Amino acid sequence: MSYISVALRRLITERAREQCEYCLFPQTASLFTFEMEHIIAEKHDGTTDSENLALSCPLCNRFKGSDIGSIDSQTQKLTPFFHPRLQQWSDHFQLEGGAIVPLTSEGRVTTRILQFNLPERILERDQLIQIGVYPRLIF
Ligand SMILES: [Zn+2]
Repeated sequence: MSYISVALRRLITERAREQCEYCLFPQTASLFTFEMEHIIAEKHDGTTDSENLALSCPLCNRFKGSDIGSIDSQTQKLTPFFHPRLQQWSDHFQLEGGAIVPLTSEGRVTTRILQFNLPERILERDQLIQIGVYPRLIF
């Protein structure tokens, strides 16, 4: 894992408005510090710079790991994950209560592999919706 400077961490965090760029969970509602996630993992020659780093909650980062895509269940095709630098979240997902509903092939593989809709994650988002802190901003 490459070194990421304090200045670069700050840029990534501020650009993401302090929310996970995959599930939109706000860092301010988490007990854990969010992570610098390589969109394309270093083992796939992903670079450690602002164009390949995203702010990620620990759960999304853990489930994604070094994966960069999966097989879409509808098309049966190898499909890249949603790319927060190149794509708009709202083109690929929508919220239905606390559930994140995929709208595209990229959305489907990302939702499944990053396990956006585990019951406890939906419940947590439902609770944040009720107190008005989720979603803060949909890109
Ligand atoms: Zn997340």
